[in-house]
Formats: sequence, C-alpha cells, structure tokens
Amino acid sequence: MSFFEIIDPAFGKFVLGNAPVKQIATGFDWVEGPVWFGDLNCLLFSDIPNNRIMRWIPGLGTSVFREPSNFSNGHTRDRQGRLVSCEHGGRRVTRTEYDGSITVVADHYQGKRLNSPNDVIVASDGAIWFTDPHYGIATDYEGYRSEQELPCNVYRVDPDGSMQAVLTDFNCPNGLAFSPDETKLYVADTGRMHGNDPQHIRVFNVGENWQLSGGEVFHAISPGCADGMRLDSDGNLWSSAADGVHCIAPDGHLMGKILVPETVSNLCFGGRGKHKLFMTATTSVYSISLNRSGAI
Ligand code: MG
Repeated sequence: MSFFEIIDPAFGKFVLGNAPVKQIATGFDWVEGPVWFGDLNCLLFSDIPNNRIMRWIPGLGTSVFREPSNFSNGHTRDRQGRLVSCEHGGRRVTRTEYDGSITVVADHYQGKRLNSPNDVIVASDGAIWFTDPHYGIATDYEGYRSEQELPCNVYRVDPDGSMQAVLTDFNCPNGLAFSPDETKLYVADTGRMHGNDPQHIRVFNVGENWQLSGGEVFHAISPGCADGMRLDSDGNLWSSAADGVHCIAPDGHLMGKILVPETVSNLCFGGRGKHKLFMTATTSVYSISLNRSGAI
C-alpha cells in the first residue's frame, strides 16, 4: 500500500518510503483545526459537531481538552504561544490566556455579529487574520442556526484591537496561510460546498502595511476542496483534499499527494523538527512523517 502519490519527481524527496500514514485518533464526527504545541508535546483539534476540543499526546492518546468549546473550528497560536480559536457557537475569535481565561478578539464588525469564524492565522506583527463564512450558522450541526448579518469576509485584527475587512469579494473564505516570508497570502474559497460557486485557492501579494493586491486563482483542488492549508519552510502549500493532502508548488502546480482514507479538512506541521504532518479527516486524525519542515 502506498501512502503517497508522486506527480512531480521533486516530491519524491519530500516523502519517506517507509513512513506510514497512521490513524492516531478516531471516533469523532467532523474534526478540524489541528494545532501543535511543541512545548507541551500535544496536538489540539476540534471535534466540531460534538462541541469539544480534543488533546492528543504521543504515547498517551486522546482526551477532552475543552467541552463545551462553543463549536470551535480553526485554531492557531499567537506569537506569544497562546491558543487563538474560531468559534461557530460564539460567532467570535478568542484567545486563551496563560491563566485559562478567555479574551474575545473579535465578535462584531461595524455593529453586526460575525457569521461563524472558520480559520485563523497570526502574522509576525501579532495581527490576527481570520475567515468568516456562514457554515456554522447555516444549520444546527456545527453551531446554532441563525441569521447571517455580514457578508463572508476575511478580517484582520491589529494588536491595538482595530479591525478591518481586508477581503470582501469571496463566496465562502475558509483556510488561509501566509508564505514563510509573508509576501503572499493564500485564501481558499469553498463556495461550491453549497452550490455552484467558486472552489479554489487564491493568492494575494502582501505589500507595505499589509496591503493586499492581486488575488488571482492559484490552484483548484480536485477531488474535493481546499479547506485548511499550511506552508512548508520552502513555500510549498499543503492543502486538504477529498483524497488526502495535496502539495502545491509556489508556481501553482500539483507536486504530489499524501493519500488518506477519509476526507481531510485541515492539517498542521508538528512533532520534532516540525517534520510531521497532522491531518484532521472526518472521523479521525492521521499523521505522517515527512522529509520536510513546516513553516510555522
Ligand atoms: Mg475550515
């Protein structure tokens, strides 16, 4: 059984012939938002429909980290190492402080409630960027069905708390990631999950003062769609897909795939040397060791 598919011969150097795709946790309904804590040697991830955040520790297994989680989805860590989370149920982005208390980063924009923040990243200046599609308020499955008050935008919250909609022409913005040098921002549009709308990754140039330009289609994942994504240290983009994780070169071509038996929602690098890829996939979490390192 092969755990990967090489399309560009260069991808052959990214994978290890004897490293398996391993199911490390299972029994969930829709897992998302993996984030690695190297200092605690653990992975956190969301089990969205079951309204909880799980924690996986190598050698020990999985336990509940937070329940209820306000139907949390994507997570990341800020530059001080704190957990930053998107919450469908709270319709907000929060930060977990060192003492465990929760700080609201964003829940309104121009007097209206956010939809259901989906995925989040933190830039080197400490600003928090997140996507706000409507998936978490469309049904009662992954949150609380309620009225949409705002378009599905991408937002940036600066360290001083000021907030602005930085991308307003998306159908359903979802995963997002910076290139390692932060000159490019990749944002997935997963509109086609609900109709005939765009389903691709767009790329933006990041200019002075974090101003965005461009926005052309970078790559369209098939089969499935780009939900969550991360970059490796050389700027290759690793995206979720229906058949696993696809590795896309900076010029947009598909280099190869990690094959996973369930539909992948999101991924992150972690483990020693950030050489391990953790993949949340429908009911399970999988990992594979790579001859690559994650950018963050
Ligand atoms: Mg997502």
